[in-house]
Amino acid sequence: MDKKQVAIVGAGVSGLLACKYCLSKGFDPVVFDTQPDIGGVWTKTIKTTTLQSPKPLYQFSDFPWPTSVTDIFPSQQQILNYLRSYAAHFNLIPHIHFHSQVKGISYDGPSSETWSLWNGTGEPFPPEGKWHVTVENTQTATTQVYTVDFVILCLGRFKDVPNIPEFPTGKGLQVFRGHAIHSMEYAAMVDGRQHCGRIREREEGCRRRVRENRTRHCEGVLVSQRAEKPDDDHLMVHKPGEGFLLSVLATLLSPLRWGVSKLVESHIKRKLPLAKFNMVPQHSFSKDTRSCMLSYMPNSDDFFDEVEKGTIMLKKSQTFSFYDNGILIDDDNARIEADVVIFATGFKGVKKLEGVFESSTFGQFIAGSPRVPLYRECIPPHIPQLAIIGFSESLSNLYISEMRSKWLVALLEGAFKLPSINEMQKDIVRWDEYMKQSSGEYHSRSSIGALEIWYNDQLCKDMGMNPMRKNGPLANLFEPYGPLDYTRN
Ligand SMILES: Cc1cc2nc3c(=O)[nH]c(=O)nc-3n(C[C@H](O)[C@H](O)[C@H](O)COP(=O)(O)OP(=O)(O)OC[C@H]3O[C@@H](n4cnc5c(N)ncnc54)[C@H](O)[C@@H]3O)c2cc1C
Repeated sequence: MDKKQVAIVGAGVSGLLACKYCLSKGFDPVVFDTQPDIGGVWTKTIKTTTLQSPKPLYQFSDFPWPTSVTDIFPSQQQILNYLRSYAAHFNLIPHIHFHSQVKGISYDGPSSETWSLWNGTGEPFPPEGKWHVTVENTQTATTQVYTVDFVILCLGRFKDVPNIPEFPTGKGLQVFRGHAIHSMEYAAMVDGRQHCGRIREREEGCRRRVRENRTRHCEGVLVSQRAEKPDDDHLMVHKPGEGFLLSVLATLLSPLRWGVSKLVESHIKRKLPLAKFNMVPQHSFSKDTRSCMLSYMPNSDDFFDEVEKGTIMLKKSQTFSFYDNGILIDDDNARIEADVVIFATGFKGVKKLEGVFESSTFGQFIAGSPRVPLYRECIPPHIPQLAIIGFSESLSNLYISEMRSKWLVALLEGAFKLPSINEMQKDIVRWDEYMKQSSGEYHSRSSIGALEIWYNDQLCKDMGMNPMRKNGPLANLFEPYGPLDYTRN
């Protein structure tokens, strides 16, 4: 039988993993990336960026970090080197087309409107149905159309399409006489020796202000992962699809979860002068964890030294707008003069995903609801022969993308079947309810922050793997789980 052809869009962490697992099961993957290199976001972050998840949680299950990398939070360069070694080790590079931008994908097959089963038949590769992938080579400006049996979108959500806030008429960018750029352009401009504080020292007279969002920078990430994660997953939080006993247990243990969250919050408040600068978030640490709103700041002392000196000024405000010489902080009606404003306002990942479909119907399946509706955070039930990896967030994205790639390839090789479209939708709604309740206004991030183990359990069960990965029930309940727990079947 011919090898099934799989197009993978994106050669970041998720695309590399999808490619590696496709190869391991005898599929014929072809990967496209606009960039000239692998690594996705890591090729675009400023060089002083470090990993925010501890290294043991951000590693491939069958390819550990080299012993020469001793930092628990490796640098951007170390991460890129690690990804390059992985790609070389598994011989992925020959399958990747660089400088190759996917302009659109279109499905050529029967209409999916009346289907009750995914792909009409429930099979990953139905008798009819192909995808046409239109790819532009950005070096030669030539376009080629590839016809494949399956598409895996690994476009990422923190790159490419900047999210610029909208402003009231007369208070937007058009009135501002300075320069406004997105952090994406800023990252492209600076080199490894620069960061916000140092630029100021050199560029005398140039005043910069950093508008701080409400993420919490702390060493609490580690504390949280030890104190909350292992048992939180199984015991302390309500889970989509949990049984009666687990539900009762989660309710009984909720005061404990609240206590752990408060303990971490008070530790952070002791360590960092958040109160002094009016930067204590209103929401709980637990909510930060569950919605993946945590970020780790390696040199917090340096940062707050700059804040003390006034080099960096922190302002908290729900909204802001522009006037001719700078920005207006709406909450306290203050004006801040600025020559340059940098938007650290994130990206429109959903727009990027939606835009890749030539069919507006498929685009609507993706962008029509507040959260991209994916079964097991991978399969859009109404779109045939297509999966998405790397869109829903977790506290350790590499390892979760690996689990998803493994799961998807098991599905493609026929190791298990998906339930009916109706059942998949019901499951998506169950996860929606959990995310609304746990992440509130951040629900659309599709974060599985506190439920990684529970989520992995579902994938393991589908694949016929025992979800209990440790030796003994106590270890399963109380020991932290990480990528290496999933190496064997
Ligand atoms: C500053 C920063 C720090 C982070 N730190 C952590 C951390 O500590 N821990 C953690 O778990 N996660 C972290 N993340 C999240 C990070 O996004 C993931 O860990 C992971 O790298 C995402 O990989 P990906 O392959 O899913 O997406 P990306 O890395 O975004 O890769 C997507 C790729 O798709 C390509 N692409 C997109 N559209 C097209 C198209 N139309 N045609 C061709 N190619 C296309 C892009 O060029 C890109 O190379 C961080 C993110 C940022 C921005």
